[in-house]
Amino acid sequence: MTIKEQFIENAKQGKVLAHKCTNCGLLHLSTVYFCQKCGSKGFEDVILDGTGSVATYTIITVAPAGFEKYTPYAFVVLQLDNTNLRISGFMAGIATPADLPVGTRAKITGFDERGMIIEKQ
Ligand SMILES: [Zn+2]
Repeated sequence: MTIKEQFIENAKQGKVLAHKCTNCGLLHLSTVYFCQKCGSKGFEDVILDGTGSVATYTIITVAPAGFEKYTPYAFVVLQLDNTNLRISGFMAGIATPADLPVGTRAKITGFDERGMIIEKQ
């Protein structure tokens, strides 16, 4: 399985596969060659819970081709609990900012053609 496939399999179970610097502990979402903080080349895989709070988002009312059936939805940036990581994904049924205050508790619930699926907790 490639790293991307592993990432998707974890997402389907509500988890996030991340890469932790063995020197300073900084987490990276994608595969990198050097730690963005300390420059170390040592990493280990860690599996994180896909829970957090909504940091920001964009409401999509005019969807790209093939996604019309999903509107309205939001493209959400989720701040993962107890980490430096932010992860973006799809949240269904968001029409106005009143539907989703910043800071709302949310979690990753799957991965499909829309990408990462995020739902309110
Ligand atoms: Zn580091």
